[in-house]
Amino acid sequence: MTDPNLRHLQQLDAAHHLHPFSDNAELGRVGTRVLTRGEGVYVWDAQGNKLLDAFAGLWCVNLGYGRQELVDAASEQMRKLPFYNSFFQCTTEPTIRLAAKIAELAPGDLNHVFFTNSGSEANDTVVRMVRHFWSVQDQPQRNVIIGRHNGYHGSTVAGASLGGMKGMHAQGGLPIANITHINQPYWFGEGGRKTAEEFGRQRAALLERKILKLGPERVAAFIAEPIQGAAGVFIPPDSYWPDVQRICRLYDVLLVADEVVCGFGRTGRWFGSEYFGVQPDIMTIAKGLTSGYLPMGGVIFNDRIAQVLKERGGELTHGYTYSGHPVCAAVALKNLQILQDEGIVDRVANDTGPYLAEGWKALADHPLVGEARIVGMLGALELVPNKPKRQFFPDRGRVGTLCRSIALRNGLILRSTDDAMLLSPPLTITRSEIDELLRITRKSLDDTAAELGMSNSARTPRSGQGRSRPA
Ligand SMILES: *Cc1c(COP(=O)(O)O)cnc(C)c1O
Repeated sequence: MTDPNLRHLQQLDAAHHLHPFSDNAELGRVGTRVLTRGEGVYVWDAQGNKLLDAFAGLWCVNLGYGRQELVDAASEQMRKLPFYNSFFQCTTEPTIRLAAKIAELAPGDLNHVFFTNSGSEANDTVVRMVRHFWSVQDQPQRNVIIGRHNGYHGSTVAGASLGGMKGMHAQGGLPIANITHINQPYWFGEGGRKTAEEFGRQRAALLERKILKLGPERVAAFIAEPIQGAAGVFIPPDSYWPDVQRICRLYDVLLVADEVVCGFGRTGRWFGSEYFGVQPDIMTIAKGLTSGYLPMGGVIFNDRIAQVLKERGGELTHGYTYSGHPVCAAVALKNLQILQDEGIVDRVANDTGPYLAEGWKALADHPLVGEARIVGMLGALELVPNKPKRQFFPDRGRVGTLCRSIALRNGLILRSTDDAMLLSPPLTITRSEIDELLRITRKSLDDTAAELGMSNSARTPRSGQGRSRPA
């Protein structure tokens, strides 16, 4: 029995609220899930279910729920000065301190920040920034930006254009002009019989081919996520990124790393670029910057770009009312300080990360799992119908959605893209919570296999005897 208050909320929701990335007709029929509170790695819904959130909200609640220090940072700044802008030669102290902190954390000469409210706005800003950068150096024709099929760079017009999601392009007439895409380094899905190394090099070579086809004098920048998140946590082969960097340098194409998911410890390094040993010219950030407690994003860029923008750029005719919002900045500063003080990035690299990785990779013995991949606390399981072959279910997405619902019923939040189950828990997750996460994941795989009518022996290789269908 659904409680009448929840039923009422669901009716209001269906009547008045259009949800992002949802089939709103279907949602209206089934009723939205209302989340009510969170603590640590757990959230509770309005029906009183306690759920282990193995997706950290939406790749963002890196410190977990209920951190009083972040609440205090926000309320203190709200009392002192809830808002002032950074336009017209003004700003606030937390905004300045946050810019300096980000410059300290970002690798190499990535010493400058432009603040936004989201990852989408950060990537939008990149489009204008890199075209302006080339234009004021007398290369206005250098305005083409190369992205990747199935990349995700947000939902604004420019963000969705940089991204390579066909379903998104179909709504709104995208991409905008002078944005083009190359194929992704998705080895499990597209590598065929090539080794990962070989495939990684081939996919990087597509960048060079595209640059030469366009003419290097026309290419402003290449943008990519170090590890593709929304597409299904595609971890590129080790050969990929060094080649991409080499090609960008060769043709003086600016390298933009979208660090919105990978940034701030998710891979066990402060930034995903560092995990792969590359030094981008620009990084975009959001999500983990504030652990999702308030919306904030930014564009980090290097000394070369800063110098050109300052010396030749004139007035920057770009900005958001809330660029560098003092309350968001205060929360971000505190969030970064906690990550540092508690050694959380290091823990992901050397302690809880490897512990999670070991258990996650062990799930590859399950007959539904074609590949278990993970870096730091970012992972995926590819669910497949026929294990020895690298092959997908014919109606892609059905089994992933089924497994996600079953996991929810079992008390675990996982996301699915197609038939890949995606993992991105709070970075603060403990070993015992990891044990629970892995136990529920395995049970959910078993339950999914049962629902698909796979045999018992196939489901539980270690204890399986007999072929009867389980209850
Ligand atoms: C979420 C995401 C974005 C968009 O960020 P928003 O804050 O939702 O606008 C951009 N890039 C990547 C890689 C993301 O995962």
